[in-house]
Amino acid sequence: MSRKILDVLRDSVPKKTWNNWFSSLEVKKVDHDRVELTVDNLFIKDWLQTRFSREITNAIKAATGRELSFTIQDKNISSESKSESVTQESLVRKRPLQLSNLSEECTFENFQFGIENRFLVEAAKEISSNPGAYNPLFIYGGVGLGKTHIVQAIARRTMDVHPEKRIIYITSEQFLNEMVVSINKNEVHRFREEYRRKADALLIDDIQFLVGKKGVQNEFFHTFNHLHDAGKQLVICSDRSPEELEDFHERYVSRFQMGLGIRISEPSEETRFRIAKGLAKRENVEMSDEVAQFLARNVDANIRRLRGAIIKMIVQARIYDQDYDLSLATEVLQSMNVGSFSGQTKSPIELLFSCIKELTGFEKEELLVSGRDAERVRARYMFVYGMKNILGRSINEIASTIGRKHSTVIHALKMIEKALEQKDQTITESINRLFNSLSSKSQAS
Ligand code: ADP
Ligand code: MG
Repeated sequence: MSRKILDVLRDSVPKKTWNNWFSSLEVKKVDHDRVELTVDNLFIKDWLQTRFSREITNAIKAATGRELSFTIQDKNISSESKSESVTQESLVRKRPLQLSNLSEECTFENFQFGIENRFLVEAAKEISSNPGAYNPLFIYGGVGLGKTHIVQAIARRTMDVHPEKRIIYITSEQFLNEMVVSINKNEVHRFREEYRRKADALLIDDIQFLVGKKGVQNEFFHTFNHLHDAGKQLVICSDRSPEELEDFHERYVSRFQMGLGIRISEPSEETRFRIAKGLAKRENVEMSDEVAQFLARNVDANIRRLRGAIIKMIVQARIYDQDYDLSLATEVLQSMNVGSFSGQTKSPIELLFSCIKELTGFEKEELLVSGRDAERVRARYMFVYGMKNILGRSINEIASTIGRKHSTVIHALKMIEKALEQKDQTITESINRLFNSLSSKSQAS
């Protein structure tokens, strides 16, 4: 019966729509009065409910011969599937104490790496099986390279291998917040106890947040020393090396250096390609090698941006029923103005022209030809004002860009300034929108 519902439904929508929206749909249960469906995430759920409920109702009717209502749930939070997996797992081993919020995604299986990060991954796996092997492990490097991913993978793997151990993963900001709360409640003692006694491994992310915060640094180091002396594993993540943590006491820096320090490297293009494929697969999207290669080549090392581009592609493909092809990828990278791609796309002046077009409807060419109708003149004045006050260009450069005399440029600037002074609502609003749209277009991420 479940099969039949899906078959009927598949025939009733275009193929592309099916692939974009229905590929994760499953029939969980057919009751006497309703049908329970599940999908991959809340976004798809909402979309199916608002856009396709008629198709779903009709398919149920055609397949069952009855008018049944239906519900859609997110597979990941559907209560039944959750409790099933828990009982299954608990037959095998005791569930570890989950003392931290870990992202489902951040596992070793999902971490792609080439030769550049092999050593890091090997070391990370080693301490997951043998906590204390390298102590502390200090991982550092630039934004979006996967530090948090790796530390969380260590936390998860350690819990899997040693379900009896208590693993705490926390950012140094959370550490600080908890400390402040405990001070206010007069419970510092308990706060210390919790970390010193209860943690078999402490993984702390973004330690650079403690730069300039001596009080927490001290507190953290008491904890650090206590755990380290007891042979408990410590993992520290930072956007810079221990030596570059200016204002950390030398004593602390040297303790950080005692164990193993590894810089996380930028993923190669080949690795980025595999990351793109992996991300797409996890979202149930078929992405050709060509498109993945294109993304890998044009998005820089920051994987967060690569991820952003793929998510944007997915949303756009679904909403506008587009294919996952090069033209969609190009469009998305252009709209994000991402990485090396941005260099080849538009200069700031071209961007300004396109903002003016969005605001006033006048193309560059229309703006430049002579023509004195009020709308066009105003658009031209706004362009001049933008070039001067947003892009900071000289009167000379503006004059040659619009092919007009000096005095014309100065006149245009005066007109807009006067309108702004007089709080002319249309002009003020237009200039504000120009500022906003230009800055959002030229932002790197
Ligand atoms: P950082 O902490 O270094 O700033 P994150 O760990 O938050 O970076 O990584 C940013 C995003 O990119 C996360 O969603 C992460 O899962 C993903 N990511 C980073 N590196 C990789 C990789 N090598 N393989 C797969 N996903 C990755
Ligand atoms: Mg991080």
